[in-house]
Parts: sequence; structure tokens; C-alpha cells
Amino acid sequence: MDRTPFLGYMMLTTHVLIGLALATPIVVAAPDLGTAALVGGALGGGFPDADMYTAHRRTLHFPVYFAALSIPAVALAAIVTTPATVALALAVVAAAVHCCMDALGGGLELRPWRGTSERAVYDHYRGRWLPPRRWIRYDGAPEDFVLGLGIGVPLWFLLEGRFELFVLVLLAISAVYAAVRRRLPDLAPVVADVAPDALSPYIPDESDKP
Ligand SMILES: [Zn+2]
Repeated sequence: MDRTPFLGYMMLTTHVLIGLALATPIVVAAPDLGTAALVGGALGGGFPDADMYTAHRRTLHFPVYFAALSIPAVALAAIVTTPATVALALAVVAAAVHCCMDALGGGLELRPWRGTSERAVYDHYRGRWLPPRRWIRYDGAPEDFVLGLGIGVPLWFLLEGRFELFVLVLLAISAVYAAVRRRLPDLAPVVADVAPDALSPYIPDESDKP
């Protein structure tokens, strides 16, 4: 079984912030479609990590197919421009960006800062794992937080109301997660002790312990 990390290579919150950022040209150019674009971007940015506790970065991660699908999705939104088609286009584009960016980070392992895994994200098209490039070494790394902050602060200035609040919540979660990230693997055996057996396949194993 794939060893399951706590989150993706990059924080889920960073992916959602990137999804929101992808929607900002529409927020500026066509404010009446802004909400649809932002909701689509946020959902699409986060969606692939819904496979976190199954076969992570494989079941819902389609770097090639999401990228290919974004062409007709964007074309449809351009031809038939409604809130639904705009949200769908943003969701597909944000999911494609998420899956491609996962390959730029660390590998799938309990302690990704060690850099021992050669599996970043699964390419269903070629039928193999893409290797990690480690531009961002692991989810919750300082560079991950800084990237999220670099995207989140301009978003916070640009957006209003609920979306402004949403950005602040995402940044707060990122800050807490980045602060405790390297301690999380040590909690895995504690969680395994108290969790019901039904959860055990989803708890990272400890075989990469020193
Ligand atoms: Zn991911």
C-alpha cells in the first residue's frame, strides 16, 4: 500500500489559495462572475487531495487528463458564459495546476523532508509515478508557507466579504500546520494506538523510522 502522508506535497491550503488566485482575472474583468470563478477555483484547487486517505496522489490526481480537459472546459465557458460553466472551467484548470504542482514538491513518505521517496504524483496517462522535484521540499515547509503567504496577501487585498475572510482562515491554518508539520509523524503511532482498527489502513506506517 502507498504510504500515506498527512497531506499532499504542498499544503492543501496552498492549493486552495492558488485556485482562488487563478480566478482573480475573472473577478477583475467580470465581477458578476467572480463568485462562481472563486468557488470553482477553490473547489478545483482542493479537490484532488480528497484522495488523501485512499491511494493518495493517484486516485484523484490526473496531471495529464485534467490539463487536457481544461481546454474544452475553458472553451465551453468562453462560448456559453454562465456562472456554472465558468465555475467548471476554473475547477478543472485549478485541479490540473494542483496535480502538476504536486510533481514539483517532495515525495510520498511519512517524513518527506528526508527526500527518500521517488513518488510525487501518479501519471495515469503514462502509467507511472512522476518523480518529486522538491522545489518545495514537503507540505508545510517554510517555502510552502511563504508561497501561500505570497499568494494570500494580494488575495486578501483584492477580495471582499466572505472570500476575504476565507483567505485569512486559510493563511491561519497554513501557519499552524507549518509550525507543527515536522512533529506530526511522531503522533502517528499515538493515533494508531487509540484509533479503531478500521482506520489503521489510513494511518502512515512507521517503517521509515531511523
Ligand atoms: Zn495533491
